[in-house]
Amino acid sequence: MKEQLNEIKMSYSTHYRTHSCGELRAIDAGKEVILCGWIQKIRNLGGMSFIDLRDRYGITQLTCNSETNVDLHQKVQNFGREWVIQIKGIVAERYNKNSNIPTGDIEIMLTEVTVLSVSDTPPFTIEDNSDGGDELRMKYRYLDLRREIPKNNLLFRHQLGIEIRNYMNNISFVEIETPFLVKSTPEGARDFVVPSRVNNGEFYALPQSPQTFKQLLMLSGYDRYFQIVKCFRDEDLRADRQPEFTQIDCEMSFVEQEDILNTFEGLIKHIFHKIKQIDIDPIERMSYEDAMKLYGSDKPDTRFEMQFVELNEYLQHKDFSVFNNAELIIGIVAADCGHYTRKQLDELVEFVKRPQVGASGLVYILCNEDGSFKSSVDKFYDQADLQKVATQCNAKKGDLILLMNGKKDQVREQLSQLRLEMGTRLGLRKKGTYKLLWVTDFPLLEWDEETNRFYAKHHPFTAPKPEHEALLESAPEKVNANAYDLVINGTEIGGGSIRIHNSDLQKRMFRVLGFSDEEAIYQFGFLINAFRFGAPPHGGIAFGFDRLCSVLSDYDTIRDFIAFPKNNSARDVMLDSPSTISELQLKELGLKL
Ligand code: ASP
Repeated sequence: MKEQLNEIKMSYSTHYRTHSCGELRAIDAGKEVILCGWIQKIRNLGGMSFIDLRDRYGITQLTCNSETNVDLHQKVQNFGREWVIQIKGIVAERYNKNSNIPTGDIEIMLTEVTVLSVSDTPPFTIEDNSDGGDELRMKYRYLDLRREIPKNNLLFRHQLGIEIRNYMNNISFVEIETPFLVKSTPEGARDFVVPSRVNNGEFYALPQSPQTFKQLLMLSGYDRYFQIVKCFRDEDLRADRQPEFTQIDCEMSFVEQEDILNTFEGLIKHIFHKIKQIDIDPIERMSYEDAMKLYGSDKPDTRFEMQFVELNEYLQHKDFSVFNNAELIIGIVAADCGHYTRKQLDELVEFVKRPQVGASGLVYILCNEDGSFKSSVDKFYDQADLQKVATQCNAKKGDLILLMNGKKDQVREQLSQLRLEMGTRLGLRKKGTYKLLWVTDFPLLEWDEETNRFYAKHHPFTAPKPEHEALLESAPEKVNANAYDLVINGTEIGGGSIRIHNSDLQKRMFRVLGFSDEEAIYQFGFLINAFRFGAPPHGGIAFGFDRLCSVLSDYDTIRDFIAFPKNNSARDVMLDSPSTISELQLKELGLKL
């Protein structure tokens, strides 16, 4: 990809310039050229001045000799970094070639220079290893974007978008825009709202996704829709969340889950092939239930195994009340870690006790090379007990077994975090390796202890599996959905479902979610009513575009792939936004008397 990006050439010349700063080569020697760009660096060596001229295509060295051109040489002495200049000159092959840059075989012998714009000294160096901290670079993001790394990230994003659009277009998907000023709804995350001036006291909401619109488009007959679209969610701040982010939003009519998985497996394969030159295997599938049982997570990182083993039956027969009282005891095996020292084991105990994990402790069993065991619960379990656990876990001599216990959901979540930590410590989460997984058969609903009600696990438009539909009122917790997520290396990249396309079923769903019929009609009447006018069976999926960029580039952050991102406090430090607004605006909007 990097080479591909460097190959990008300015495809036409204008009155301002004949070439870009990235395209001249030795075969161009002798040509008279005009270039425009920013001064990256000026060096004066004796009677010679060298300027590195930069534009988005690359860097070209300009040379000026005091002997052959005194005035010009004098003039460039006053130039500073980041000035914008236009130069005329003759391409010459260099004596000292620079193999690090594509234009390194040539330089331009200057004949004319025009200053187009001067620059203050930039607040940080515009180089790969900039001396600017994160906050400063974000404040001057337009300067930061001149740097090679952010530039390549934006070009990567662009290229990915093009590949996606090409692929989708080739298989008859139509890109249709949906509105940004929509209606606030109570489900899902918090909405960003926009007060209406014309309708005082009323508010629009910014869409969390185009979900209902894309379903309505299915009703209108556009049976393959997609859109690369901004979505807005006012969620609590978490590392690497952006209040506005981009989805590749898709919907199809007359399809079953299998059709959707196949269609988008095709897209993902195409992306990996084109962007990473990797031909991926058919994507594995795992039910939500298995993912939770084996990895304690609905987005397991399957670059490494380390699956959970349930051990109640092997550990609840002795006098150890901690285990005896546990709903679930689960273990993982860290291969070849049987030599861990007390200090290393204590570190793991500390890890699980951190508030982010929240466990009360951890039990370990070291499988010694001589076939004996040493554990933190030797007081309660003899060698034969530990041998049984080791056999059940498939642990070999020299391995380490880590056990956790507690309430089922909680302990799974906790061990999942320890599993990832061990994966990282053991170097099993290798960058550049990609493991893809479809997680399927999600539960339709999720019980919330605090509010004492069911919430839709995906969203309220997801259909129950037809064979579970009858249980919707009598045993809602048993109802599964044809809902699926795509997971890459432990990151959720996309998710979707087969939708409800029938008013009655949609009404029943809202009732299960605790809506009165009136509330449901007030909030979602447009959709429920629309279903009365010939709704095709349909389903879809949405992928996180920013996240896909970062995962494919082996980055941990999505911010690096967004031209003007917000910081971790949801602020735009360049615009200094959010900000207060004037009294007059508040009055006009009906927010102040
Ligand atoms: N609209 C859903 C979301 O944003 C995705 C989908 O169901 O297609 O998660």
